[in-house]
Amino acid sequence: LKMSLLGKVVLVTGASSGIGSATAVFLSKLGAQLSLTGRNVENLKKVCDECKESENSSTFYIPADLTKEADIEKIVKNTIDHYGKIDVLVNNAGILETGTIENTSLAQYDRLMNTNVRSIYYLTMLAVPHLIKSKGNIVNISSVNGIRSFPGVLAYNVSKAAVDQFTRCVALELAPKGVRVNCINPGVILTELQKRGGMTEEQYAAFLVRTKETHALGRPGEPDEVAATVAFLASDLASNITGVSV
Ligand code: NDP
Repeated sequence: LKMSLLGKVVLVTGASSGIGSATAVFLSKLGAQLSLTGRNVENLKKVCDECKESENSSTFYIPADLTKEADIEKIVKNTIDHYGKIDVLVNNAGILETGTIENTSLAQYDRLMNTNVRSIYYLTMLAVPHLIKSKGNIVNISSVNGIRSFPGVLAYNVSKAAVDQFTRCVALELAPKGVRVNCINPGVILTELQKRGGMTEEQYAAFLVRTKETHALGRPGEPDEVAATVAFLASDLASNITGVSV
């Protein structure tokens, strides 16, 4: 057994930035046939071009907003029209916003839940018939916030806990059909997302200190380290692993 995704069609959301773009490039080096999605077309194009440098791989992108149902439908349709199958779905796209029970508006709650949970729910629903056909698998990018609570990011914590529960339940539902479903719960990874959380410089510095206190390795992670975990879970090396959070 070796780590390879040669000929596997992999759909990656949030591929225009951070963990998603690192994952796309990493998987292209393992021979994946990639379908990349996000809203920022300029970034998607750049990532797509980088992936195309890998041998035995092919890549195209679909601009889409995951808060819109029609866009989610377009992602699955275009991927099937292009490649004829889906072997792996990487539900990576997500947003982070700060807010406590005293100052999170319902609008903010809706934004986080729509982007981080509802989009995964609907995209997975549409991808599942194809994944059953290919006996494929799903990798969801959750967060350490799905397992532990961190005050000040309430709606984000709630959204990621939902992703974990979604992973466990769908894993049980699809195991008899030969589809594996896993999720990754990274600690702080240094990407754009950390800068977009509405934190001041001071809050951000305190956040990094908390990272060191709460992550066993005592340092923030790199996008490539998450990408490597996605690659492992998506590959046949993980053929006996489902319903887990790593
Ligand atoms: P980035 O902000 O760098 O990337 C987020 C990605 O999500 C972008 O590609 C963005 O694409 C996409 N996205 C956001 N909203 C939408 C939308 N409405 N429609 C389509 N795409 C959307 O963040 P990260 O790479 O850090 O985060 C990726 C995942 O990892 C998230 O789920 C996050 O919660 C999780 N995570 C991150 C951690 C970290 O410390 N960075 C730690 C633990 C988990 P575009 O803007 O082009 O639409």
